[in-house]
Amino acid sequence: NPLVIERSEVTFMCCVLNEGIIRQKILFFHSTLNLDSMVTQGSYVYDTNGRKYLDSLAGLWCTSLGGNEPRLVAAATKQLNTLPFYHSFWNHTNMPSLDLAKELIEMFTARKMGKVFYTNSGSEANDTQVKLVWYYNNALGRPKKKKFIARSLAYHGSTLIAASLTGLTGMHQQFDIPAPFALHTDCPHYWRYHFPGETEEEFSTRLAKNLEDLILKEGPETIAAFIAEPVMGAGGAILPPTTYFEKIQAVLKKYDILFIADEVICAFGRLGAMFGCDKYNIKPDLVSLAKALSSAYMPIGAVLVSPEISDVIHSQSDKLGSFAHGFTYSGHPTACAVALETLKIYKERNIVEQVNRISPRFQDGIKAFSDSPIIGEIRGTGLVSGTDFVDNKSPNNPFPKEWGVGAYFGSECRKNGLIVRAAGDNITMAPPFIISPQEVDEITSIYGKALKATE
Ligand code: PLP
Repeated sequence: NPLVIERSEVTFMCCVLNEGIIRQKILFFHSTLNLDSMVTQGSYVYDTNGRKYLDSLAGLWCTSLGGNEPRLVAAATKQLNTLPFYHSFWNHTNMPSLDLAKELIEMFTARKMGKVFYTNSGSEANDTQVKLVWYYNNALGRPKKKKFIARSLAYHGSTLIAASLTGLTGMHQQFDIPAPFALHTDCPHYWRYHFPGETEEEFSTRLAKNLEDLILKEGPETIAAFIAEPVMGAGGAILPPTTYFEKIQAVLKKYDILFIADEVICAFGRLGAMFGCDKYNIKPDLVSLAKALSSAYMPIGAVLVSPEISDVIHSQSDKLGSFAHGFTYSGHPTACAVALETLKIYKERNIVEQVNRISPRFQDGIKAFSDSPIIGEIRGTGLVSGTDFVDNKSPNNPFPKEWGVGAYFGSECRKNGLIVRAAGDNITMAPPFIISPQEVDEITSIYGKALKATE
């Protein structure tokens, strides 16, 4: 049976539902639409008129276990009936947050991690990263080493610091950001930015060289960290080209610059590996997590901190004072209990294997439309897919903005019962990990129908 969520219980995802994406913005600013009840079932959502949509974006890349996983509801209920809240300040904590930290440290094997810091979101996780790194360099007596390098088209969140790291100019224009500590280097989208005749590997070499040039121009003694999503999400589902992370990590190592992996959308199986760092052989110093950490049933984020960094912070706290940063709801026991149950389900159901079983059907199904005259590139891995609409197959020939090609495609999908993300002429999809073969075929079929209507 579908899970019926009454208005009073709506704590997440409500903005996706009523008349789909078009109303999303309105709801964001004025929660006035009458969501008397809504329904989610597996990979589907239903609006208040009872219309059914296959949610190929898993909410916002986050409801990995779909909309009605009873074990997560039970885990939340049990915790609410036991210890609904206790804070994690001044040497206090609670058992679910301790158990979850232990579990996360064990699960993340790309590199040994030492400590976990909890937040309520991915943005707060990335804000926390900046403060941790600044504290770390202050503790090491390197007060000038404070700048961060992120990438064009990256998305790292919408708080002031996270939005400064974000490389989407649309997130900057209305505000006085990026703040001066945030620099941006190239977006690694091979199809869009490679020179004629340049191979993927040569492209990666050029980007690593550009990164090194930026570091040298600014002065390596001023650059503290580099932050990257293993696969860029909001920027358009952009995969790293061959040897990219290998070459980037070599440059960072040379200049003693930390690597922060923003795994907010990539972690827990989305890419067909438990973490994006496993998939691309990234050895990060710090990791940001959120979204699928709790399958979005409760808001929670986390920062994994390497022992080298946490040891410095601990050893210097007599001099600098304890790390003065935290949120009322850091390590919220109910959110941690739901996250723990989510991770348990991932393990029991071997979620990575499940994603790898279904993803070829999803990727091949969508890529079969690559020959369309309005499509420049379809790319993807695991359960992430990106499509770029252009004229004449060339990234240099975008369609006029006022044609609204992507928006039209998105509305045709919605008309036929499929939710996709249309940002300009880029379409992204990131369905729940539990998507079935029949549901994948339904995505492919509606995608094809909407494409025909758009052509
Ligand atoms: N980092 C990445 C890679 C994201 O995709 C997002 C959100 O989409 C964030 C950070 C911000 O997370 P939140 O919206 O939970 O603040």
